[in-house]
Amino acid sequence: MKGFISAGRSISSHLKIRKMCKHIRINIKIKSIFSLVIIGICLVYSNSSLSQPTPHLRVGVFEADVTPPIGSPVAYAMTRSIQDPLSARGLVIFIDDQKPVVLCAVDWIGISNEGNDVWREKLAAAARTTINRVSVHVLHQHDGVVCDFTMDKILKEYNVQPTQFDDSFLYKAIQNVADAVGAASLNPQEVTHVGFSEAKVEKVASNRRILGKDGKVAMIRWSSGNDSATMAAPEGLIDPWLKCVSLWNNEKPIAVITYYATHPQSYYGKGDVTCEFIGIARNNREKSLGGLPHIHFNGAGGDITAGKYNDGSEALRPILAKRVEAAMQQAWDQTKKIAIPKNIAWKNTEVTLPLGKNIVEEKLRSILSDKNTSHAEKISAAEKLAWYQRLKGGVKINVSSLRLGKLWLLNLPGELFVEYQLAAQQMKPGEEVCTAAYEELGPGYIGTAISYTQGGYETSDLNSGVAPESEKVLLKAIKKVLQ
Ligand SMILES: [Zn+2]
Repeated sequence: MKGFISAGRSISSHLKIRKMCKHIRINIKIKSIFSLVIIGICLVYSNSSLSQPTPHLRVGVFEADVTPPIGSPVAYAMTRSIQDPLSARGLVIFIDDQKPVVLCAVDWIGISNEGNDVWREKLAAAARTTINRVSVHVLHQHDGVVCDFTMDKILKEYNVQPTQFDDSFLYKAIQNVADAVGAASLNPQEVTHVGFSEAKVEKVASNRRILGKDGKVAMIRWSSGNDSATMAAPEGLIDPWLKCVSLWNNEKPIAVITYYATHPQSYYGKGDVTCEFIGIARNNREKSLGGLPHIHFNGAGGDITAGKYNDGSEALRPILAKRVEAAMQQAWDQTKKIAIPKNIAWKNTEVTLPLGKNIVEEKLRSILSDKNTSHAEKISAAEKLAWYQRLKGGVKINVSSLRLGKLWLLNLPGELFVEYQLAAQQMKPGEEVCTAAYEELGPGYIGTAISYTQGGYETSDLNSGVAPESEKVLLKAIKKVLQ
């Protein structure tokens, strides 16, 4: 560097450089003063923005019955009895004079692909908003309804019987919910306060993936304990916190919204329809609070089940329900209310999740046309072919959040691993992120990048429709909507 300046230069040129340097220093000083003035103006401005008007927040609450009739298909059988009715519940949220936001939680096992499109389109039309402001989730009850009109077409194409879809029931149920959304939109209530609290759920969630010393899945802990070894193994990575948000008109609560990450099933598979221990806990809380609407969302519970604490007997369902209900009550009792914050906003972004290498069209079609493959294999192949067709058709997935000051209601797709909701929470230290996953279920399980190298159930062929690179895409999207 030294040689670069002095070589071949006269003293006068050195002087010129000195003068230039002085000039630059003066310039920098002037610029610094200028910057200080600008910062000062900004501070004054931001102080004045502190006194900006509070947003006008209103909310309509809806609920509609979505119980299938006897004889109609649910995920693993035909409906033979109704243990507990299924519902779709949610909120139509009005922020100032923006188009409303619709959040909806449905007691079904999955709403995927064109099923998700129809739900969002109908609800958007009913609320007079756009579909990118509508978020429809399932609670994932296993004796619950599957809704995927793309898969429905594929099963018809290959004449797979019995099909998983009762189209007339599905369209009627969606229309009922849309009608309820329409009615709620006409009669929103003023929100003056937002409440928040959380409580630990004891002895419900456990991680399905029990890793061995080599870092690979050594044992799979199914939703009902299959053996003493998996039940004895530690809980593993979970998020034990049940988060509870409430909306108020002064002293009067309007609705309670809770979040907790776990698969909800205690036992299932015979067509005895139930909203399961999660829905039972929610319904009991609603009764205890004199009918105060309670909406529950499943968190990122893709790799979480009650397997450690559930032997699959009928007796365990009400016990698990009581444990969840206890946390719901504790969180409600500890609720801290604040006047509605100034930063209220809806944010969304659309992503393309990279396709899993295991999803090969020819392979799926050959399973569907092969007389020797089982019904379950055909259903599974149709499910993944539907997802494949959507990705090839360029359909993107919505990731969104509703910001209420330091409280974020985050909406994510698929059977998402709990690691994602823990990561989302870590992105906002000192704030609260409530994650609702199980929106668009087309991708199936969405693991973390490393989980695809560890084996186990979720990331195996035909269970996950996405590649390990999805982690990067999703984390980026989460970061974007949490800003
Ligand atoms: Zn699942």
